[in-house]
Amino acid sequence: MTRPAVPAGRRTPVLLLLLCSGAVVAASAGSPALHDLVLRRAGRFASHFAGHTATTTVTANAGSVVRDPARAESDPVRSAATPRPARRNLDEIRRRLREGEPGTYIRELLLDHDSSLARWPERMHEPLRVWIQPARPDLEDWSPNFVKRVRGAFNDWENTGIPVFFDFVADSAAAEVHVVWTDHFDEPISGKTLWARDDRWWIVDGNITIAVHHNGGEPLDESAVKAIALHEVGHLIGLDHTTDSANIMTAKVRVRDLSPADRATVRLLYTLPPGTVR
Ligand SMILES: [Zn+2]
Repeated sequence: MTRPAVPAGRRTPVLLLLLCSGAVVAASAGSPALHDLVLRRAGRFASHFAGHTATTTVTANAGSVVRDPARAESDPVRSAATPRPARRNLDEIRRRLREGEPGTYIRELLLDHDSSLARWPERMHEPLRVWIQPARPDLEDWSPNFVKRVRGAFNDWENTGIPVFFDFVADSAAAEVHVVWTDHFDEPISGKTLWARDDRWWIVDGNITIAVHHNGGEPLDESAVKAIALHEVGHLIGLDHTTDSANIMTAKVRVRDLSPADRATVRLLYTLPPGTVR
């Protein structure tokens, strides 16, 4: 598959990184199916840019991400995958929102995102390249099965019918999305997602970190890792928290699978153009 050439002048800077983090509360004894996943949003981080290059520095409890301007300038991924939408017809977008809204939590998403929608461009013909850190034998209780669970989380979202497919790649340098492991977070969370969007609200890359242990030291089981991964990949593709705990995207996750509302919300999101609806 080839990538269409994009004139340098259409390259867009990365404007914002959103940090979402999730916490897992240890399951109470005897009820392993009822883990609570408590996910908290940690904040928004502005970036700085000049011309067509992006210089983004994010500092959070989990570490920092520094984007090298030279690398951003030469990065074909960022520039090629962000089409310029046709002229926005706000009345039409709002009408489609109203019609598609029942059974979704798209309104909560808009409240969280300043009345704007962020998503990836269509990536069916050129799937998003995802790198999942393949091994962390240095981490006690880390299991190779965790990698399979995270792949499963990506596949579950892909199977909702959104026009975004995922390719799992072995070369981290070639990936647009990275998933890495950590033993535990120093704060009471178990997962974090950082994503970046451009000035047209297209998401352009993302980084997910998943812990192997609760903040208190208890190991996370495969089911919890899958649930965290589902939640964090939900953030990666543009979703945010909903108050209804029947959904994987609730701040206190009580389920292990995508709900009808999770599926309906992401499907609606991917029928609408990114950007403001205000
Ligand atoms: Zn979250």
